[in-house]
Amino acid sequence: MKLYNLKNHNEKVNFATAVKLGLGQKQGLFFPVELPVIKPIELSEILKMDFITRSTEILSKFIYNEISKEKLYKHVKKAFSFKHPLKIKITKNISCFELFHGPTLAFKDFGARFMAQMILSLNKENESVTILTATSGDTGAAVAHAFYKMKNVRVIILYPKGKISELQEKLFCTLGKNIKTISINGSFDDCQKLVKEAFNDKKLKESIGLNSANSINISRLLAQICYYFEAFSLIPKEKRNNLVIAVPCGNFGNLTAGLLAKSIGLPIKSFIACTNANDTVPRFLNEGKWDPKQTISTISNAMDISQPNNWPRIEELFNRKKWNLKELRFGSVSDNITKTTLQEIFKLGYVSEPHAAIAYRLLKDQLKEDEFGLFLGTAHPAKFKDTVEKILQNKILLPDELKYRINSPLLSYNINPDFNILKKFLIKE
Ligand SMILES: *Cc1c(COP(=O)(O)O)cnc(C)c1O
Repeated sequence: MKLYNLKNHNEKVNFATAVKLGLGQKQGLFFPVELPVIKPIELSEILKMDFITRSTEILSKFIYNEISKEKLYKHVKKAFSFKHPLKIKITKNISCFELFHGPTLAFKDFGARFMAQMILSLNKENESVTILTATSGDTGAAVAHAFYKMKNVRVIILYPKGKISELQEKLFCTLGKNIKTISINGSFDDCQKLVKEAFNDKKLKESIGLNSANSINISRLLAQICYYFEAFSLIPKEKRNNLVIAVPCGNFGNLTAGLLAKSIGLPIKSFIACTNANDTVPRFLNEGKWDPKQTISTISNAMDISQPNNWPRIEELFNRKKWNLKELRFGSVSDNITKTTLQEIFKLGYVSEPHAAIAYRLLKDQLKEDEFGLFLGTAHPAKFKDTVEKILQNKILLPDELKYRINSPLLSYNINPDFNILKKFLIKE
């Protein structure tokens, strides 16, 4: 698989290099030179396969010349070794597609776990790697669990002390073994700055084999394409021509993956790009002006992003396919409407959470008579327990995995935002 840098089309790399680098020169995103094609006859065969076999087929179309199908199958099986997505009926023509049955209860497990498998597979035998990453909550947990107990891999996660929820902290700071977590006396930006400093230190980078595992890695997007095929396979045949999928968006990785699925032959009729009050993209689609504002804190905090870093990939895809951006449906939802929507869904007999509720709202409001709608359930309601309990006036049960983690002791180190202290840690620990 060849990929080019969106900021410099002359920089071309293979899949292995794109996974290792994450970003190209000038922080440019990598994008596939060629997009595979799945013809309708092949599609009907693919849709009949089980999730792991089908996902291997799809991923193999991108990376067959770098990883054999047999080998890929083993990695996919390990990456997706948790309960597969479920389709839950909400109304006559709307269902939730739950992607949160992985170890950290959010859809990010798909991308993070497949990326971990790819880093493992592309690494030379006995070469040791250090994954260093900063998190403001969810990504860190997904990355930690994805690499947990992997041989020759050490994971170091920085997070701002006191600025993530107790539940989030417990989820990844209680693992131990090859997962080291450091709370930083500072902000998320301080954490990111430390990570950048480490990557700029060439000698350090080489001596400990630094890798970033960040969220714009192409391997994550490829992994996420797979569950859109699963969603499609679960829809009754007579409704498949009229499928609309509503995606709760933050960095727009999830939506990019959905559009990629469509671009290679999955006939999804339409997508709805759903945001909270951080509505840079809805405003852009409405007015044609890219005008990011200060990021606002909302109850759907995983979507509190005003400069979504996957957007250039979406524009590139529309250009390449000669699609019109006018066909992309969109909308933004305030916290107040999110709350009343959560209550509305609850009355229908389903407990949701703020991110999915935003997608439900826009889907419900925009779905046409003859269409069938899916909204993506991106996180388990227990992850946002306090918010959801307050809005619904109802107790949320924690899944067993979380109950166990809540009662485990925190194992984090704590340091000041000082690169020299971090450097010593990276060399010694
Ligand atoms: C990360 C996240 C999102 C946003 O996904 P993107 O791929 O960044 O657009 C939405 N909901 C939840 C719960 C998330 O954790």
